[in-house]
Amino acid sequence: MLSIVDEIKAILDLSNLEGPLRAASNMLEYVEERLALPPEDEPWLQENAAILRPYLIEQGMTDVDPLVIETACFIPGLWRGVNPPLLVLTAKRGGFSPSRLDHAHQWVIQAQNWIADFRAMSRPRLKRLMAFRGITDPIPTADITASLRFMAALVKGFDANANEVPLLNARFPQLSQVDVADLVRYLSRLSQKRNEWPLYTALNYLGAMHRERLRGLHGILLEHGLLEPECLFQTADAEISRRLADRLRSGRSRRSRFLELVVLAWIRDANAIDYFLQHPDEQDHIIEAGWELTAEGHVRQLYYDTCYRVASQGQPGTTRFMTHQSETCPLCGEPLVALMDLDLTDPRLAYMQLAGTRLKVISCLSCAGWIGNVYADVDLEGKAHWNTALNASEKPQRSEPIVFVNEKPYVLAAEPSPIIDIEDFHSIGQTSKLGGFPAWITGTFHPNCPQCSQGMIYLGQVHWWNATNIDTTHFCFLCPDCHITGCFSDST
Ligand SMILES: [Zn+2]
Ligand SMILES: [Zn+2]
Repeated sequence: MLSIVDEIKAILDLSNLEGPLRAASNMLEYVEERLALPPEDEPWLQENAAILRPYLIEQGMTDVDPLVIETACFIPGLWRGVNPPLLVLTAKRGGFSPSRLDHAHQWVIQAQNWIADFRAMSRPRLKRLMAFRGITDPIPTADITASLRFMAALVKGFDANANEVPLLNARFPQLSQVDVADLVRYLSRLSQKRNEWPLYTALNYLGAMHRERLRGLHGILLEHGLLEPECLFQTADAEISRRLADRLRSGRSRRSRFLELVVLAWIRDANAIDYFLQHPDEQDHIIEAGWELTAEGHVRQLYYDTCYRVASQGQPGTTRFMTHQSETCPLCGEPLVALMDLDLTDPRLAYMQLAGTRLKVISCLSCAGWIGNVYADVDLEGKAHWNTALNASEKPQRSEPIVFVNEKPYVLAAEPSPIIDIEDFHSIGQTSKLGGFPAWITGTFHPNCPQCSQGMIYLGQVHWWNATNIDTTHFCFLCPDCHITGCFSDST
């Protein structure tokens, strides 16, 4: 029985090894072809192997296993679809010509690389993979056929893209503090081997689900340059922020400077605030962590610590999304749409601390993608009006009328969710949520209020497929002081 954290390591390993495992599985097919050769054809094969062997030595490949050389003799025929494959090497069909020798050589290079990869795999890692796959055979050592069969069994039925997400989704929430520490050490070793996919997938999970359990582990992350997603560092202590700030001051971190600034902004403690107060030219990076410095040097957070997912199923409640308005767009004449129409009396929305009954965020779906931010004046009693002074005054040249169909009403989830969810990483550009931290798509475009120039508060985002099946996400913001909403759309 594998522990949860070992299962996670096995899943990450398997998806990371998918390429080499599949290659091994393909090679096995060729090796099986050689093993199935009828005995009467054996002299014929050995004749060709005797031609290939010195050619390989000439190319500098001196230590090739006989089985690999013999299998390579099948490659020119197999790659040309000749049956039986050795037929292509008869004198009548051109023999083992230079180009065929070259094809066999290319295959031998791949085979040798694969064998080297396999031999480099540590036994604990292999054992973990075997336990995960329920393989009880002994670990093959020198025997190539057995190794290939073993690797083919590991990859069998495994589709990395389709399967690993539900597997990881089921396991990551169960990690204990000790497991998280174990996994972080494992990831720090992976980082030295540049295994990027499993590394960044696992870090995304930790960033979304286990920021609290990362306390005390940020030193390891920092040492290994594991700075993304930057929210991993939300729980880092003053020792980490001091080290980061020192590093930034010394100018040592030129290559990862941007990342380090954002990480420091996520830590958001006294060291971080000091640093940014002393470096006004670098304050732009703070917004990446969802806050700003006020004129008095205080932190002003621009997102809510509460989040509800918005799903496209269920009975619409008193809070609605993507509903038609009677007011039309002064630019294009299409009806405006309320991206959000929030029932502020709903106890779920109490976190917004807005003294009113309804808040509407309106936009024009046809123009939104072309004119940047769309601003509206709102009261907190459900009124919203296009702000002609703040918005573009001319119809955008490339605006196209969007036929608005809202077949699936969006519904606010009953229970709150984390402010950053693993789904925000998996389904980039398809997140709909109220509150929490923005799931940016192509970059951080946090608007400032056009009236008071403070950062606007992120209300949430709604992902929507328009009638031409282009998916767009509308990000919604509010300036609670000026009662102005702002929104803009972005897509992958
Ligand atoms: Zn319009
Ligand atoms: Zn304002």
